[in-house]
Amino acid sequence: MPDIINLLPDAIANQIAAGEVVQRPASVVKELLENSIDADSMTVQLIISDAGKVLIQVIDNGLGMSETDARMCFERHATSKISTSEDLFKIRTMGFRGEALASIAAVSRVELKSKTAEAELGTFLHIEASETKKQEPVSTNQGTSIAVKNLFYNVPARRNFLKSNPVEMRHILDEFHRVALSNPNVAFTLTQNDKEIYQLPAGKLSQRIVSIFGKNYQKQLITCQEETHWLKVQGYIGTPEFCKKTRGEQFFFINNRFIKSSYLNHAVQGAYEGMIQEGQFPFYALFVEMDPIHIDINVHPTKTEVKFDDERSVYGIIKAAVKQALGKHNVTPSLDFGSDVNFKNLAIDNSHFNTPTRSENSYGSFKSLDKQGKSTRWDEMYEQAIDESKPTPAEIRQEELAGLENQMTFQSEANQQQSVELDLEESSAQPMLMHERYVLKQVKKGVMVVDVILAHERILYERYLEQLRKKSGASQRSLFPVSLELNPADYSLVVELQDEIGALGFEFEEFGKNTIAINGIPAEIKNVNEKELFEGFLEQFKFNKSELSLSTQENMARSIAKRSASRTKISNDSIELRTLIDRLFACHQPNYTPSGTPTFIILGLEKIVEFFNQ
Ligand code: ADP
Ligand code: MG
Repeated sequence: MPDIINLLPDAIANQIAAGEVVQRPASVVKELLENSIDADSMTVQLIISDAGKVLIQVIDNGLGMSETDARMCFERHATSKISTSEDLFKIRTMGFRGEALASIAAVSRVELKSKTAEAELGTFLHIEASETKKQEPVSTNQGTSIAVKNLFYNVPARRNFLKSNPVEMRHILDEFHRVALSNPNVAFTLTQNDKEIYQLPAGKLSQRIVSIFGKNYQKQLITCQEETHWLKVQGYIGTPEFCKKTRGEQFFFINNRFIKSSYLNHAVQGAYEGMIQEGQFPFYALFVEMDPIHIDINVHPTKTEVKFDDERSVYGIIKAAVKQALGKHNVTPSLDFGSDVNFKNLAIDNSHFNTPTRSENSYGSFKSLDKQGKSTRWDEMYEQAIDESKPTPAEIRQEELAGLENQMTFQSEANQQQSVELDLEESSAQPMLMHERYVLKQVKKGVMVVDVILAHERILYERYLEQLRKKSGASQRSLFPVSLELNPADYSLVVELQDEIGALGFEFEEFGKNTIAINGIPAEIKNVNEKELFEGFLEQFKFNKSELSLSTQENMARSIAKRSASRTKISNDSIELRTLIDRLFACHQPNYTPSGTPTFIILGLEKIVEFFNQ
């Protein structure tokens, strides 16, 4: 029998190895960004076209590569980062296996430009499927630019396996967030299809968090810091009120390397016990530093999992650190567990106005909502809510000193409103409807004007959020299915969100190319045709997605509430009007719509008197 064993040609061996490192565009993004960081770059630009399927480019101003290194870097196991096996245990840089660029080059068309500080000219290289097509000197700035085009063009099976653009883009954003968070001293930009998505200036970690996730994070971050002789934890955690309904913005970095660890996550979640409801997830970005000798990061090729030699101690220290941070911050029970990030800045928020008397020391100070002896009568509840949130003059002063001007502008307005005592029960006057939109109701010291549509938006929002959480949306079936053709991007978004949209109460199925058939819409939505509702909902969802950083559930609840509330019609029937008011004040946060617009105003008697005393 003849010999039958051949050595695989390099190109094929590389392609096989690439399978491990390069699973999707986001893996390329991760490797390129990390290489730029390892090369001591101060600015890093990430350019994406078509969710990375067409182009992924990273341009940095780091150390750059010599001509030989530029060629070498695409060889397998070519790395400048370790040279002996002992180094493996002291890894400080992000990359170390020297296989990323080789793998990437095996499954795409790569163009590299790189120049070191000393060199006059840089090097340009064009490689396709591991084969060098062109190499020439090029005039370029110090640093490296690597453009990866047509990923998987030569591996159709892989290319076909890629998910829709929104899904792939989300993975890219995840990687980008991780690298950007762990390197706040490096400036980053991200451009997607020629549109700038992020411009993150170099700064402190807290600034980086805010510039990535939004301004509303500013007041929600608690510093977390703890040091023992062998481990240091530092970073930020979110206030308990700031919890999200979906896991997501939770980041652990060990020696600046992002890791996933359900074990450590459990430690943090445990520290919040009793302060947050089940199914809520706190924000955190925690950086653990320890001697690499205690860590084995080589357990998984994509390097997001780690092993510690003393896992239990790490768990204990992290949990204690988070608990202590929460305790120090003296967070008191929040009035509004259902609230979302956005109106935090606007809403009447008592967490900024803790008095020492109300918050007992440290972590024992949390009680769950129902244990606070809250009244079940909405009117009383409302007054109680106002009382609880009213800051004393001394507290206001304190806030002012702390320079929280924005908060104050709003607070003083809010105080004006709140100084009007409400007493719905006492007044026998019936509510009445004006101009088909405003309900007028006499209250103890004035008149309350409720905006029917905005009130309804708040009511529906809380209801849908609850349904989404419990996956319990009821549906009203249409007589006939209604078909709706979408553009491909919307269609893939709908398919991606199928389960959540279903949980809202929409019933639909795929119905040919980019088309769905709507069989039912959420129960209780009236005066609306299925198609318009669905389209409106989707529009709203996409708008929120691009403008705000919300969890999917949050966004869904807001979008459907806004769209269906806009159709609200109400008759001038006192029972119906009363029901609306009761339902509004049964909400966790009746005062505002989810996006922060007041749902009602109080026209105080003094104001009315003033009008006539001019
Ligand atoms: P690793 O990062 O594991 O060493 P890579 O395949 O990612 O392996 O990179 C190979 C080598 O190419 C690196 O060790 C480094 O010397 C060089 N390199 C890659 N990207 C850059 C860059 N942006 N700037 C400077 N050198 C780089
Ligand atoms: Mg690398």
